[in-house]
Amino acid sequence: MLNIMKPVSYYNVEYLPNSTLKEKFERNINWMLSLTPDQLLYNYRKNAGLDTKGATPLTVWESPDFFFRGHFTGHYLSGASKTFVELTNTDEKDPQAVELKNRVDLIVTGLKEVQDKLSETSEFPGYLAAEPEKRFDNLEKLRFNGNHYVPYYAIQKLMDGLMDAYQYTGNQTALQLVKNLTSYVEKRMAKLTPERISAMLDTRWYQGSGQYIFHQEFGAMHRTLLRLYELTGKKEQDVFDLAEKFDRKWFRDMLINNEDKLGYYSMHSNTELVCAEGMLEYYHVTGDDQYKKGVENYMDWMHTGHELPTKGISGRSAYPAPADYGSELYDYPEMFFKHLSKLNGESCCSHDLNYLSSELFADTKDPVLMNDYEIRFINAIMAQQNNDSAIAEYLYNLSVAPNSVKHYDRGGFWCCVGSGTERHSTLVDGIYYQDNDDIYVAQYFDSILNLKDQGVKVTQDAHYPDQHFAHITVETEQPKDFTIYVRVPKWSAETTITVDGKAVKVQPENGFVAIKRNWSKKSEITINFDFQLRYQVLADRFNRIAIYYGPILLAAQKADLPASTVSAKEYLNDLEKVEGKNQFRLKGSDIIFKSLPEIPGETPYNVFVKVPEEPVAKTIDTQNDGAQFGHQWTLAVDPDKKNYLKITYSALDDDIYSFQIEDDDQVLFTQTMTKEEWPEDSYYIYPLPQSVTKGRDKLNIKIEPLDYESLNFDVADIDKIETMVATK
Ligand SMILES: [Zn+2]
Repeated sequence: MLNIMKPVSYYNVEYLPNSTLKEKFERNINWMLSLTPDQLLYNYRKNAGLDTKGATPLTVWESPDFFFRGHFTGHYLSGASKTFVELTNTDEKDPQAVELKNRVDLIVTGLKEVQDKLSETSEFPGYLAAEPEKRFDNLEKLRFNGNHYVPYYAIQKLMDGLMDAYQYTGNQTALQLVKNLTSYVEKRMAKLTPERISAMLDTRWYQGSGQYIFHQEFGAMHRTLLRLYELTGKKEQDVFDLAEKFDRKWFRDMLINNEDKLGYYSMHSNTELVCAEGMLEYYHVTGDDQYKKGVENYMDWMHTGHELPTKGISGRSAYPAPADYGSELYDYPEMFFKHLSKLNGESCCSHDLNYLSSELFADTKDPVLMNDYEIRFINAIMAQQNNDSAIAEYLYNLSVAPNSVKHYDRGGFWCCVGSGTERHSTLVDGIYYQDNDDIYVAQYFDSILNLKDQGVKVTQDAHYPDQHFAHITVETEQPKDFTIYVRVPKWSAETTITVDGKAVKVQPENGFVAIKRNWSKKSEITINFDFQLRYQVLADRFNRIAIYYGPILLAAQKADLPASTVSAKEYLNDLEKVEGKNQFRLKGSDIIFKSLPEIPGETPYNVFVKVPEEPVAKTIDTQNDGAQFGHQWTLAVDPDKKNYLKITYSALDDDIYSFQIEDDDQVLFTQTMTKEEWPEDSYYIYPLPQSVTKGRDKLNIKIEPLDYESLNFDVADIDKIETMVATK
């Protein structure tokens, strides 16, 4: 038998009645049912010149004049089709399931009319989108008119939605529509030279050439086309070949060679993340190990250099506008402090990171993926849906400044509303994995794993993490030998496990404890976790901490959280547990720390606490402004330890300053500064990658103005430049 582990998908997992996940799942169903098929078809029909049947169009990114339109209908088809499977798992005649299937069918029928009509006039048959073909023409001519066009992004969501409608509700027309659309794309792409395709899909905004590249998002086209190739029995070579056109060599090589240049190129977080999904799918289809290795490297970059306290990603880039359009980009590894003053952690990225983590965990069994999955699920994904509506949150405010507000847009159809609607139909994904007969319990959320073929049922019902333990009931129809692997979270120092009341030795191997038994009838596993307060110092600012209680990130529900006068450790001692809740009160105040999902909408909160500087690193070399020497310094570093560069700046005039910090001509960081966004205490800390300092005792630092868009940027005046070495 092949030893290949697989995630157990939502269609073999049920929601536990009265659980938080079920509540959120049901709220999402009501949300989907509040929208009509005619609304979801509005932009498609309008694009084909068909009657829009008096429907009220959707808003914001789905408004009839916005150039992202069409994406939400794809997500809706995915969400409705997957929900249909889950509801009919337990009740074949579930009325909501029947209604959702009915709506999927109506939408697919409507889309067929649109495709037929568009095919009459378009250059090739099969076109199906909510926007005119002109968008694709412009893309191919590299004409972006200052907009971030996303036509491929929108049709990719539709293609996945149609494949879900086919795969999970059996709608044959849906598959035909995807095939037709794929054939259309194939003919379009066949006219283009490899060089033009490469330029069209190049998402490196900054390439060191003095000009930035206009940007488009093309979604997960690579993954989606490979999915179609697999879904149609791996027979359609032309579909595979088309998928290959979306596999960019420079990106693939960057991942395989383990060179994180996401920040240097000012790349878009979610665009590159779903390209990593494409690479993993390519590994699944072809078995090419290099691709898997590349994705492992990419996830390692996320874990060590890009994840926020929620384990979500995305923020501002290091460049001036327009290459920094706000909140969806990568900065250099471990550079957070500057962009934490803005919106962060796009929800789409959290959903995609968890999807990718789950797929990659099945391939690698790397427990880090599941440890971060847990924190991301509890703190980012569980916070996305408001408790009184099913509209999803777009970005999280993880500001270091006061007055962050939790904001839900109740009228918008942003990208994250689309991905949120889809993923709230699969909240029980990622919990269980099957390795032949063995079962991995990787997450402890309420759920029922029902492997009917094997006669095995696993139920979790402890309402974790509200409760600090997992309770797993294992039922088998016949006595059966197999192993259940349970994860011991990294944050839980003293974990205890019992099986049917008897203690099991907790010696995790690769993050999991193996419980091998002849399981018969009914057994109970209880895992008690060690919930403690702990803190994490911000990687590039040693006087800011994020506080966790076990896996739960705590935020102070307070507009203006006073800075602490005592050390981080003492601050934790001043947090008094609120009886019966995962909440804490700051001693002598009315300030309550609670999880992000518990913070009500439109409420100010603070994730970071300002504390006296933690002894993370000590200065080993200090030099003054080197302007008269051309902004060059030779500075000592420790070849064996983590090093930091700390630069203290002088006041600026009204210009925008932007410059690059280099070591022997290799760009280490880009820094953009204005008087309005002056760093607190006039300094930034730049964590140096260990690959830069390894085996060296000196760095040759040089600071040069950014060569960019013919704008004359300058280097800011520098007071002091220091190197620091980690104390541990
Ligand atoms: Zn989004």
